[in-house]
Amino acid sequence: MFSIHDDIQVIDLLEKNGYKKFRYGQLENALYKNFLSDFEEMNTLPKEIRNLLTENCFYTSLSIHSVTSDAEWQTTKFLLKTADEKMIEMVIMRHRSGRNTLCVSCQVGCPMGCSFCATGKLGLIRNLEFYEIIDQIMLAVHHLEKEDKKLRNVVFMGMWEPLLNYNNVKRAIEIMCHQKKLDLSSRRITISSCGVVPWIRKLAEDFPQVSLAISLHAPNDTTRKKIMPVTETYSLDTLMEALDEYVKKTNKRVFYEYIMIAGVTDKLEYIDELRKLLSWRLAHVNFIPYNPGEWTLGDHYQPTHAVIIKKFQEWLEQEKIPSTIRHTMGDDIDAACGQLALKENGVSHATEKGKSISRGK
Ligand code: SF4
Repeated sequence: MFSIHDDIQVIDLLEKNGYKKFRYGQLENALYKNFLSDFEEMNTLPKEIRNLLTENCFYTSLSIHSVTSDAEWQTTKFLLKTADEKMIEMVIMRHRSGRNTLCVSCQVGCPMGCSFCATGKLGLIRNLEFYEIIDQIMLAVHHLEKEDKKLRNVVFMGMWEPLLNYNNVKRAIEIMCHQKKLDLSSRRITISSCGVVPWIRKLAEDFPQVSLAISLHAPNDTTRKKIMPVTETYSLDTLMEALDEYVKKTNKRVFYEYIMIAGVTDKLEYIDELRKLLSWRLAHVNFIPYNPGEWTLGDHYQPTHAVIIKKFQEWLEQEKIPSTIRHTMGDDIDAACGQLALKENGVSHATEKGKSISRGK
C-alpha cells in the first residue's frame, strides 16, 4: 500500500494497468480541487480504477488522537497518530485578519537539543515522510472547509528541524504549490530553522519564494552555544554568511526568532549586539516571550519581563529594524508547542525534574 499523494507510484500503478494519463488528472482534480477523501465518491473515475486505488492506496496515514481549541476559537491543536503510533502535533491558527495558518510538523521529535525546548527533549525519533506532511495539510483543509474557511499560510514550525528532513519537505512543498494540486502560493510558506547552513543554500536555490525564519535566540556564539548546540557546528559568522547569500539570491527578508529568557538572552548589552548584527541586513525580529507552560517542573529558565521585551523592541526600532512580539496563540489549551506530543511520546515528567522546557521556534 502507498499514499494517494505519492504521484510517482500512483501514475505507475495506473500505467501498469493500462490506463491513460488523463485518468491521473481526474484523480488529482477529485483529491485536490474537490477535496474528496473517499475513493468511492470519485465518480469521474471508472469503478475499476476506484477499486484499484482502494486495493493499493491509502488516503491518509494519520489518525486524530485529540483536538483542542482555545476559548476564543483562534487556535486548534491536533495531536495526530502516525501509522507506527508516534505522536505529532499540528496547529491551525485563525488570525483576526481572516487569514488561516497551519503549523505542520516534519519530524517526530528533533535532534537539535536546544536547552529551552520541549521538542528537543525527545531527540529525533524519525523523519516524517512527505505524504505525512501532506496528510496534515489535507486534514487542516477539510477542517477549515467545515467552517467555510480556506488555508492560506503554512509554516514549518511544528516538530522539526525541517532542513534536516529536506527531501521530504521539498517534495511536500512541490505538492503544496503545484497548480494542479494544492496550488498554495510559495510566498505563503515559511520554513523555520535553527540554522543548518548547507541546507539554507539549497533552499535558496530550490524555493527562492519560500520565506525563511531563523532561530537566532542570542546575538553571540557564547550564549548561543549554551542554549543551541547547533552553534558548535555552525558558528554565528558561518550562519550569517549563509543568510547573506540567501538574501542576495532571493531578495527576501529573513525573519529572526528570538526567545526572551530572563538573565540568559535578555541582557541589555545584547540589544547593542543585535543592532550591530542586524541593522544593515534585510531582517525582521520576532521576539518570543519564553513560555514555561504546564510541562515545566523546575525554575531553571524564567520568562523575561514584558517591559524588557518592549525595550528591546523600541531600541531596535530606533535602528529601523522591524520587529514584533509574538502573541502566543493557544496558551490556554496546552502551553507551548511540542508538549502534547512530548507527553504522548513517552518522555517522563520525572526525568525532566528541575528543568524548564518550552518551544523555541
Ligand atoms: S528549538 Fe527547534 S531546533 Fe531547537 S530543539 Fe526545539 S525544535 Fe529542535
